[in-house]
Amino acid sequence: MKLIFLGAPGSGKGTQAEYVSAKMNIPPISTGNMLREAVKNGTDAGLSAKAYMDRGDLVPDEVVIGIIKDRVAQEDCKDGFILDGFPRTVEQAQALEDMGIKIDLAVEIAVPDDRICERMGGRRVCDKCGASYHVDYKPTKVDGKCDSCDGNAVQRADDVPETVLSRLKTYHEKTAPLLDFYGKLGKLKTVEGQIEIEDTKRLTFEAIGC
Ligand code: AMP
Repeated sequence: MKLIFLGAPGSGKGTQAEYVSAKMNIPPISTGNMLREAVKNGTDAGLSAKAYMDRGDLVPDEVVIGIIKDRVAQEDCKDGFILDGFPRTVEQAQALEDMGIKIDLAVEIAVPDDRICERMGGRRVCDKCGASYHVDYKPTKVDGKCDSCDGNAVQRADDVPETVLSRLKTYHEKTAPLLDFYGKLGKLKTVEGQIEIEDTKRLTFEAIGC
């Protein structure tokens, strides 16, 4: 199954992608995690992406499309995958179609902007494997330490309030049109993000039928 998770930054789509990945045994592919890794390793893609990411802007389409093209060609994607944070523009969605990739379903995790702003301060991400946490809603077992590897659960530099507002604006301008794109193809399901992550998980599994 080839799935896409759509939603504003901080909507919880990364967390839900991890749950569905574990349930369906298909890899979650987060362009944000891959770009952060590229920045950390100082690769060409990382160097060109960093300034955009620091401002909360989208990295140019050709950079992320190239990254995705290489990733979905890998062996572990042959039975499907879950795209988290890609596509983020209609051009990126079009690029997937042009690659001959037929998406089964796009799942939107819908959360109002005011709740996103409230939540972002508590979000933590593993600096090694990219797993998502929240100090109140999904805390790590040991404070500051990832549950899955020996990485540290840290706040992302772009989760500060000014950058969050800019990322939300970018989401509404550039990514929200994808709801219409997948809606018109009859491939969109919307899950209302709940206060409790477990409730969102149940609704997400129901929407996917897994
Ligand atoms: P995320 O972890 O998905 O919130 O992504 C973090 C940042 O990486 C975003 O604010 C963008 O700067 C960049 N990014 C991630 N995915 C994409 C994408 N599909 N297109 C363009 N930029 C992206």
